[in-house]
Amino acid sequence: MRLVKHLNDFQHIKRQGTGYFIVLDHNSNKVHSVRCNWMKEESFIQKVITNKETNGSYYWVQYWNSTQPTFDEIPCRKCMC
Ligand SMILES: [Zn+2]
Repeated sequence: MRLVKHLNDFQHIKRQGTGYFIVLDHNSNKVHSVRCNWMKEESFIQKVITNKETNGSYYWVQYWNSTQPTFDEIPCRKCMC
């Protein structure tokens, strides 16, 4: 598991196209395929860079196991169903 803190890292992961983002938020934590259309640069910039992770963070994982969620994350309804 890796904390994603820089835009170029986020972009690199999206280009590479494998694994999952776990997005932490004050409401609920979600897991997305890195290819999800909802994984937008603007959202990453706002949450991680502009707001300095005060409302949450992005983690990247190579594999995701629904029976062992690390942060009680919920699968995205758009990309994980
Ligand atoms: Zn998604």
